[in-house]
Amino acid sequence: MYSLFRIFFLLIIISIVGCSSTVTVDHLLLNARIAQFEGDSLFYKYSNLTLINGKIDRILDTNSIAFNSRNSRIDLKGAYVYPGFIDAHAHFLHQGMVLKSINLQGTKSWEQCVQIVKKFIINNPEEEVYRGQGWDQNDWFIKKFPDNSQLEKLSNRPILLSRIDGHATLANSVAIKESDINEKSKIDGGEVISKNGILTGLLIDNAQSLLIIKKPSKYEKCRALLAAQDEAFKVGLTGIHEAGLPTEDINLINELQKNGELKMPLYVMISESPAELTYWLDRGPLKTNLLDVRSFKFYSDGSLGSRGALMSKPYSDRDNHYGFEIRSFNYMNSAAKRLALNEWQMNTHSIGDSANRQMLKIYQSFLNKRSKKDLRWRIEHAQVVKPIDREAFRYGIIPSVQPSHATSDMDWAIERIGPERISYAYAYSSLRESSNGILPLGTDFPVESMNPIYTFYSAIARKSPDGHSKEGFQVEESLTREQALKGMTIDAAYASFQENEVGQIKIGMWANFSIFTTDIMSCAEDSITSLNVAETWIHGERVYVKPK
Ligand SMILES: [Zn+2]
Repeated sequence: MYSLFRIFFLLIIISIVGCSSTVTVDHLLLNARIAQFEGDSLFYKYSNLTLINGKIDRILDTNSIAFNSRNSRIDLKGAYVYPGFIDAHAHFLHQGMVLKSINLQGTKSWEQCVQIVKKFIINNPEEEVYRGQGWDQNDWFIKKFPDNSQLEKLSNRPILLSRIDGHATLANSVAIKESDINEKSKIDGGEVISKNGILTGLLIDNAQSLLIIKKPSKYEKCRALLAAQDEAFKVGLTGIHEAGLPTEDINLINELQKNGELKMPLYVMISESPAELTYWLDRGPLKTNLLDVRSFKFYSDGSLGSRGALMSKPYSDRDNHYGFEIRSFNYMNSAAKRLALNEWQMNTHSIGDSANRQMLKIYQSFLNKRSKKDLRWRIEHAQVVKPIDREAFRYGIIPSVQPSHATSDMDWAIERIGPERISYAYAYSSLRESSNGILPLGTDFPVESMNPIYTFYSAIARKSPDGHSKEGFQVEESLTREQALKGMTIDAAYASFQENEVGQIKIGMWANFSIFTTDIMSCAEDSITSLNVAETWIHGERVYVKPK
């Protein structure tokens, strides 16, 4: 009797243990090589992963105990699983607007442009305004500015086609009439072109501002955001730092994320203005699972390409020209004071050596006072920084850089600033050294391609992904593959105060992955630009699988 009782008792124990060894999770990923950082080095851990509620639940041996999964059980067959890539500086909404517009880049004639516009209108009859971009008459067989006569039959709604450099727009007569532009219209710094006393629809430079263009509607913006999201999934992006939007657009993003259509996590910088500062400082930061608003985007100067970057000595290719101060440094200083007091992040576009020096000085004066505040203020771009000024980054200022800018600008930047200044421009390795090893990487898309693999390649090879540069540009400033990957993951997470949520494959973090079938850390350098992401996961959901 006693032994029978014992057997019965043993059976109960076995059944309890048996039950508890079959755990139910949301997703089970088998045979993954998961990338794990250890300081500045990286190793792969061959593991199974379980996911619950969008987060990493367990990292297990591949021969671990049994699991049931509610949703999926996926054998990754040894694929390389990286922490989801984050773009630390981009224009997500703008990218979507470009994707949704009529693309006239690479056209060989005006007739070809008209055919493309016609086809677009037939396929998109619901548009309120037809916007296109990218034509360049210098690429055409007949190198002549177009007129709007062939656009007239295509639609009774406004058609606006902007030239590749944004310095001219061809508008149909509906758009011209709606804007009250006529033969007598005149403006400084621009021209309304007419031929034999009749408007051609072509508006040059400032004349484009005469167009009363309906701002993109809410519907157009929603569609643009979703188009940008689709493209981002395809290249493995799992998070984006949106470098400047007004409150109106931030609210729209929040709405789209809440209804489940927009799945992309966004760290949105608010485009600063006195009104936006007052509104948000009163209101306080906004944080949801997908949206983080706790920073402002400022511009201290313009860009190097258009000679707007603020330099301490004149441009090498334009006498007596120093670039532009977009916001006065007094304004910047008082804004910084308010932000420091309220513990908001300040992120400032600074390209020229003078803009960088002045902003670093302002930042430093607020970060230097043994303050306990964790502000993580950022310099966006940090393109031309004198070596002596780099020291300021040691105070916890973050340089946020875009490696593809270096490889896109390398052909002409030397003409703008000359050999001496170029020697310390785009100095990513040196900047990283000064900023205690923190260097978030981004692209600034749509200015550059949104593909993070190009960022990775440009950062390590210092060569252009289009292959036109055989020799690397200032290769002593290249990053190691580990440093570049950290820049796209851990450092980007840190720059957005999200280092406990994303940027690594760790238990408790969001299950965000960029998965490849090739080891991006050891493959041949010249094969990197042709790598394609195999799967993209965001918050435990597989949002993209490469088609077979
Ligand atoms: Zn930007």
